[in-house]
Amino acid sequence: MFKEFFNELLNGKLVGLRCIDCGKVMCPPKSTCGNCKGRNLEKIELSGYGRITSYTVTYIAPMGYENEAPYVVALVELDEGPWIVGRLDVDAERAESENLIGKRVKVYGKEFPSELFYPNKEKRIVPMFEIVE
Ligand SMILES: [Zn+2]
Repeated sequence: MFKEFFNELLNGKLVGLRCIDCGKVMCPPKSTCGNCKGRNLEKIELSGYGRITSYTVTYIAPMGYENEAPYVVALVELDEGPWIVGRLDVDAERAESENLIGKRVKVYGKEFPSELFYPNKEKRIVPMFEIVE
């Protein structure tokens, strides 16, 4: 399910899970409900829209990601409730000079080079946020 979450992002789809017992929506998918710990979960497609609740500019990237810095990491509250982390597709200068908290975004997936941490050649797919207002 976790792999499907990332692969569907590349198709512009955001998938999550809804707990059939209590109704809680989870994204990214988890193996048990974050509310009632139940395992009676169904796959759902989310709208992909949400609002920026927090963000930060990363200048010192982890080893292996150096050439991707600076980049902007954002925490987004989705319309359906869950909060997800991804990268905001604005440059560091704009992120620092403008207050982007509360801006409406749409999520999509982007594939990044993966040689260092994915030696088995798996795709490295990162959730990205595009500002839509
Ligand atoms: Zn539940």
